[in-house]
Order: sequence, then structure tokens, then C-alpha cells
Amino acid sequence: MSEAPSSPPQPPPLPEIILRGIGVADGIAFGPLHRLETAPPPVPEDPVPPSRAPVELRRLDAALAAATARLRELQANLAAAGNPDAAALFEAQLAALADPEYTGEIRTAIRASRLNAARAVQTVSGKYAAALAALADPYLRERAADVRDVALRLLRLLAGQADSADLPATPHILYARDLSPSDLAAAPRDSLLALATAEGGPTSHTAILARSLGIPALVGIPDWGPAAPPAPGPVLLDGTAGLLVFRPAPARQSAAAKRIRARNRLGARLAKLRDLPSETLDGTPIALRANIESPDAAPRVLAAGADGVGLFRSEYLFMDGSTLPDEDRQLRAYTSIARSLAPAPVTVRTLDLGGDKLTRHLDFPPEDNPAMGCRALRLCLARPDLFKPQLRALLRAAAESSNLRIMYPMVNDLADLRAAEAVRLACADELTAEGIPHRRDIPVGVMVEVPSAALTAAWLATHVSFFSIGTNDLTQYTLAADRGNERVAHLCPLAHPAILRLIRLTAAAAQVAGIPACVCGEMAWHPELAPLLVGLGVSALSTSPDAIPGIKHVIRSLRLDEARTLADHVLTLETPDAILSACRTFLSSHTPDLLDD
Ligand code: PEP
Ligand code: MG
Repeated sequence: MSEAPSSPPQPPPLPEIILRGIGVADGIAFGPLHRLETAPPPVPEDPVPPSRAPVELRRLDAALAAATARLRELQANLAAAGNPDAAALFEAQLAALADPEYTGEIRTAIRASRLNAARAVQTVSGKYAAALAALADPYLRERAADVRDVALRLLRLLAGQADSADLPATPHILYARDLSPSDLAAAPRDSLLALATAEGGPTSHTAILARSLGIPALVGIPDWGPAAPPAPGPVLLDGTAGLLVFRPAPARQSAAAKRIRARNRLGARLAKLRDLPSETLDGTPIALRANIESPDAAPRVLAAGADGVGLFRSEYLFMDGSTLPDEDRQLRAYTSIARSLAPAPVTVRTLDLGGDKLTRHLDFPPEDNPAMGCRALRLCLARPDLFKPQLRALLRAAAESSNLRIMYPMVNDLADLRAAEAVRLACADELTAEGIPHRRDIPVGVMVEVPSAALTAAWLATHVSFFSIGTNDLTQYTLAADRGNERVAHLCPLAHPAILRLIRLTAAAAQVAGIPACVCGEMAWHPELAPLLVGLGVSALSTSPDAIPGIKHVIRSLRLDEARTLADHVLTLETPDAILSACRTFLSSHTPDLLDD
């Protein structure tokens, strides 16, 4: 019998093409790629005769007004969708549009240098952006992107184009050399599956916005230019692993589909925990609080099911906007967040500027070692003109919102605490003399983020109402490795044996004094570390609102005695890798669903 004709041999499948970048927002997506050209519209060269200058000035004014209205609309949409922190990202752009120096220079370029409106916007913005981009301070350097974003919007408006990028309404993964935060905010949310750019870094506003919106994102993906993409067809973007994969292999696609399904299932399950208490299986409460940067973050805190705010980084009030916030503006900010979340506690950390956190409103004299220089509480003690209005605003706000608490950053020891308290009590005396209502006995706590504070925690604990352990700074100071320097990043692991000992010491001191000890640094963000921290004696965790449901799931799945046994075992391990692996093993036996991603 003759054999059935065999089908002709298939050519081997073409290999995957993998571009590697930096994952800046977690998650995975699979879909068609859309490349967006973000180049500004061509700018006419023609000079403007003096008789036409008024027309160009009117066109400029109309563009400035339209750009302002559009940014406010984007802000309102983001805030209404529960993303007030993201909305706040546009404050710097609105400030630029209202900045008389910037807009005045554009007007002068039209009137005196005879440039048309578009050329004047391009020239002046280019100069401002270049000056900002050349600054040493990373925060101010990022503001160059804001100026470029504003300029792009104005140029599009002056060219009669839509002021935001035109994106498809069908599902797609977006690639752009660079994407402005406002173009991302205006993108149709239902169709934007994921985002990759060539430019930008993990702390760029576009990356922050992508994280707030839950859009998987990568930066640093090399640009293949205007030619066709490396391969046709749908692509797979993995924001967790930092990959953009062309022609993804079937096995990779099915693994990704499984992860997407698992993630969606987990999200739905975690959402159901919102109103359940954060307590271990044996009923020990572990408070879960939110870290926030803006007084408008209350909806996110509530949506996450957090028990108030464990860390309000008040310095962000001093970084955005066109001026430093005075006492009354701060009073409004603190009152508003405290009222929205009452009766849950709202912990405002006093100004933590200096080191890597600078503001254009203050001159910071150069220091050889700014992280170990005049920052945070040290700066406040040296600058009562900054510290006192903040303390007065907090004492006044606490008169009507009894859930407000004050927390001092970078406290070295009792002497620091006493110096800060002396200023606070002097503020209370002043307010009494002025007949202004305030709360003198507002709860006061300290951040334990310098090794000396951890080592003297037993003394500090008898003078404060709570501790909050800042593991980010505690790690950098204990290991003498700058947290912002990628050359020594390998020296700052997530969980180092030395840090665990300082946490245990601090938590034990808190327990003896009968005060709560929270962890509000990066360690609190990782679900696999939650059992260890609980086992070390920590009674509260404060982290980004988005991470809270997952951490609550972990807390509700463990018993206190198991967590303590884990901590005792982990304290015998010598390396960070061994510590992490023990924590992961514990997590996989309790909440394996959290390790899927
Ligand atoms: C910390 O140091 O851990 C902390 C929470 O403060 P920041 O990250 O704002 O310095
Ligand atoms: Mg800190």
C-alpha cells in the first residue's frame, strides 16, 4: 500500500526579535503596534513685519488660553477617574503657561525680534528647556520635558492642528521616540494597551503617569527609525521584564495570556478585600496606610481600602506650583486631606528637602555630600522661616481634624527630636498669644531612617507617639551607599541582614514603650516582605495605595506565630539573596497567586 503523501516540510518559524528596555510600569500586553511620530509641526521661517506683530501676539494669546484650558480639562478628567496624583503632574506645565517671564520672552521675540508666534515659541522654549536639561538636579532636569511638552502643544495649536497626538481608537501598543505626559493623559484609555518609548526614565512624569493609570510601560527601547518595524504583526510588551518582543513565539504568547488572565482574576479578588480588616488569621491587626505626595490623593487612599495615610511627603507641596506654599495654603492642604480621610490617621511628614529633593524656589548651597548634609529636619532647624509656617499650619489644621499627626524626618537622636519639639511648642505659644485655635498636643512621631535613631530607639520611643521606619534612607546610611547612585545600587538590596536587625531593634523599643512601629520605605511595597516585617514586630505598613490590596491579602493569609518563626529563621541567614528566597518560599506557600507575575 502506498503511503499518504506527506505535507511539504514547513520552513522553521522565524525567530523572535527581542528589544530590551527598562520596565517602568508593571504588566504585560499583546497587540498590534502603533508608532506615533511626535515631531512638532513644521515652523514657518517668515519674519513678521511690525504691522503684523499684533496679529501674531493675538494668535499666541489664543494658543496660551487654549493650552491652559486643555490642560485643566486633562487634569479634571484624571482627578475624576481617581488619579489626582497624576493630575498634579500638569501643575508644572500650567505654571509655565502662566509664567510672565517665559510668556513675556515669547512676546518680546515676536515684537522685537520679529519672529512669527510659532518660531518665537520654538526659540524661547528651546532655550528654557536646554537650560533646565543642563542642571545637575534631576528634579529640575525633568522640568525640561514639561517645557518641551508645553511648546509642542502651543506649536500644534498655532499650526491649526489638534493639540494632542492622534491615537487609534482600536486596541494597540504604542511606540514613540518620546511621549509627553499630556499626550499620554489624553490617549483613549480603552484602546491603549501598553506603551514603549526610546526616551525618558523611570522617574519621568510619563512613567509616573503610566504607573498611575495601570498601563504597562517600557522606556529605553531603541528607535528603529521611520522604516518598517523590525518585524510585522502583533508584539508582546512585558513591562515587568522590560521586553518588547516582535514575532513572539507561541509558547511566549500563551504564557503571557495565562499571566494576563491570572492578573485579572487576582485584581478582582483583591478588590473584594477593600472593606475587610487588615489582620492576620489569628486576629492581630496590622494597619495598612498609604504613602502620598499630594493632598488630592484621598480618593486613591479610600479606593485602596487603606487605613489613612502613613506618610504624606509634604515636600512635594514645595516643589510644584509657582511659589512656595505659605502657612494658609498649607493649612488648606492639610485640612483638606485630613477631613477627607477622617477619622483615619493622616501623618504629615515635615519638610524633607535637600539631598536629592530640591525645589527651584530655594537655593541649596553646594555640599560635597548632600545626602549627609543639611537636609530634612536639619534644613528645617536651620530655616525657621520654612519650618515654623509648616508647624503652625499643622497645629491649626489639627484643631479641627484630630486625625492629623506630625512626623519628623531624618531624626538622628533625642537632641534632634528636642530641637524640633522646641520649635513646635514655640509655634503653639505664638498661636495662643495670637488667639488662633490650634492643637498643642497633636501626636508627634519620628522617622527612623538613620542608624543612630534605630540604635537609640528605646530612648526616642518614650518621647513620641509612633515610629515610622524609612527603610530607603536607613539602607543608604547603614550601608554607606547613595540610594540614587546606580554604581553602588548593588550594595542596597531589598532586605539586608543589617537592616533587619535595625528594624527588629526599633520595633522592640516601640513595643516596650507601647507605641506603634510602621515601615514606610520601599520594603513595605513588596508583598513577599510583609510576613517578615510583621514577624520582626512591625505593627503597620505604609506604601503606595496601588500595592495595598496585595499586601492586605498576604496579611490576611498568615498567622502571627508563623511570621515570627519566619523572622527568627531569616535572621540566621547571611545574604540578601537567601533572605529573599526564604521570604518567597513563605509567600508561595501562603499566597502563591501573588508570585505569578
Ligand atoms: C525612606 O527613607 O524610607 C522614606 C520613606 O522616605 P523618602 O523615601 O521620602 O526619603
Ligand atoms: Mg527618607
